[in-house]
Amino acid sequence: MKLLQLAAAAALAAALVPAVDRQADAADTVYPPLRADVNGDYNINIQDMVLLSKYLLGSGTLSAEQASRADFDGDGTVDTFDLIGLRSSYVYNCTNTPLGTWVGEGFSGTRYFWFDESGEGTLVRNDRETATAFRLTKSGCNMSFSISGGAPAAASIAWLDSEHFYLSWGGSPELFTYRSSVRFDKGPFLKGEYVSDAGKSYSLSCFSGTCDSEPISIMPMGTRAQFVYSDGTIRSGDFSRMDKYHFTMRWDDGTTENFTRREITVVDGITYVNGILIANKTYPLPSTYAPGGLTAEFNTAFAKMQSAAKADGLNISICSGYRSYSYQAQLYNGYVARDGKTKADTYSARPGHSEHQTGLAADINYAGDWFNSTPEAKWLAANCWKYGFIIRYPAGKESITGYKYESWHVRYLGEELAGLVYNSGLTLEEYLCIDSKYTY
Ligand SMILES: [Zn+2]
Repeated sequence: MKLLQLAAAAALAAALVPAVDRQADAADTVYPPLRADVNGDYNINIQDMVLLSKYLLGSGTLSAEQASRADFDGDGTVDTFDLIGLRSSYVYNCTNTPLGTWVGEGFSGTRYFWFDESGEGTLVRNDRETATAFRLTKSGCNMSFSISGGAPAAASIAWLDSEHFYLSWGGSPELFTYRSSVRFDKGPFLKGEYVSDAGKSYSLSCFSGTCDSEPISIMPMGTRAQFVYSDGTIRSGDFSRMDKYHFTMRWDDGTTENFTRREITVVDGITYVNGILIANKTYPLPSTYAPGGLTAEFNTAFAKMQSAAKADGLNISICSGYRSYSYQAQLYNGYVARDGKTKADTYSARPGHSEHQTGLAADINYAGDWFNSTPEAKWLAANCWKYGFIIRYPAGKESITGYKYESWHVRYLGEELAGLVYNSGLTLEEYLCIDSKYTY
């Protein structure tokens, strides 16, 4: 890192917060030495002045490390000019207060501080989804942070340059790097595993995480957000959220990146995506998965839907509900014997890949194209989401779901998720950003 001369930096005091947003410098995690901090405690105070003065008067000695820090102007010798530098640095620390958003490293993980002109501030720890308000009072280089309901915390400030300073909390240093003149917003914390349509995988904590396994930091700022990638690239853009599983970044360069939350877990051979049990051509169920029938949640929701259809003058009933692994194997093998494997794969699931094995899917009234044009099919398509169901294999999405249009096949997802999927206009595969393709 290029250190600015503090004297020169002092001249920039009026422009303490640069107009442009700056990146966090990865090298900052290793504490750079603080010029004029003779004793190395990340403070610039009377003790440093005493050490340096005694040395200059010939009544004291400095270690090589102390001498290097004492050489304020960097000319290779420790002389009275360095004492002048030390004094200017001391004055600078006493008179300058940080403003804007700063990132602190090294004291308690990564912390984000917002300082405003009135002395009000906000603190967020990266691993927490809560922001804490504080009131800052500064006296010389001593800063006192008051948090409502808590004891005030004291630190001393020492500026490294106009974009870096140390806070020393009872001797433990925390290095701050200027991030932005924009206040961060505690609103859109982005936690979880995401994939984007730019082909990237993100693992996000509150303000940080990884992008394709490389560290990344994120600054939410109201309707905008800033991503800082490990190679130093900073991308800023408008943030918008479709629902709790999807958000979009409209980058300032005019491009758009769509993010889909996707946490795939496999428990006893059963695949869950964001906690949703999945059975499709990519993700099979083990032969041992056998709920034995439609689940209680399915049956309760279906009864409710059936009454609602009845009220609208329509009769719906289940013509095929739960199917065991062995029954599906029997069905599929029969179709293969009759029509061949290629043809059978277009209308029947291989054993383990049928959603009917989940106990969360069923065929309504009649499982065939004849059903497509019935009033019941139209009613289901328009209303089933209200009762927690989706039409699992919509028209025109065969290449995505792996199945042709089945107006009769519903999958239970629960009311909230069914509503989200319905409103998204996406298939479940698209909604979760997963495939449905046989790999064998
Ligand atoms: Zn079906």
